[in-house]
Amino acid sequence: MRVKNYKYLAVLIICFFIKVFGYAGGLSGKIIVVDPGHAAKNSNGKIVNYGCKSASGVKEMDVVVDISEILGGLFLQQGATVYFTRDRQNYWRSAESQDADNQARAEFANSKNADLFLRVHCNWSPNKKKRGVLVLWFKDDSKKLAETVYEEISAIGGKSGVVVDGIRSQHLVGFEFAKVPSILIEYGYLSNKSDEKLLKDKKYLQKVSEAIVQGLKKHFEKNKK
Ligand SMILES: [Zn+2]
Repeated sequence: MRVKNYKYLAVLIICFFIKVFGYAGGLSGKIIVVDPGHAAKNSNGKIVNYGCKSASGVKEMDVVVDISEILGGLFLQQGATVYFTRDRQNYWRSAESQDADNQARAEFANSKNADLFLRVHCNWSPNKKKRGVLVLWFKDDSKKLAETVYEEISAIGGKSGVVVDGIRSQHLVGFEFAKVPSILIEYGYLSNKSDEKLLKDKKYLQKVSEAIVQGLKKHFEKNKK
């Protein structure tokens, strides 16, 4: 009898932790399309969507695959269904132009009826001092979501080395064709030396990605249907 009671108590405690801390399934039932940007070739084999590159040769199209693997893992842990527009095995996409490629990515997210189309990029600026994480959104259905994610990224800040660049609405082809909520995260500037170092650091990528997951969990919790 006693042993049974303990078991019952243990189950209750586990349920309590799941409820309070969202250890499992915080994104269960959600469909997320993760979109590592760039890397598309046309039918002649010419690269039509290259992305940016650091002075020492670190390519955005490689970094965003590393990031997307981390994000995908975290989303799966939270019970979400995850699709990728490209990955390490399917590295190159086929498209005749950059715009056509970005349109096709958005249409892929539409076809999955995604709760979120998450576009992953690295930034570049002629101003070498510019650095930090930038969150972009375009349509109204994505504004609140972008803001909640941005708040979580801003909250890490300080000693962790994560710098925030900002949040803004921006018209991009990939957003224009998306009929599902979509945001774009620039994880840092490949034109900035400190950011370049961070973009090669799995711990940094993990930290920012965890904040994104946290933001999404908060957003979906607040906007339960
Ligand atoms: Zn990019």
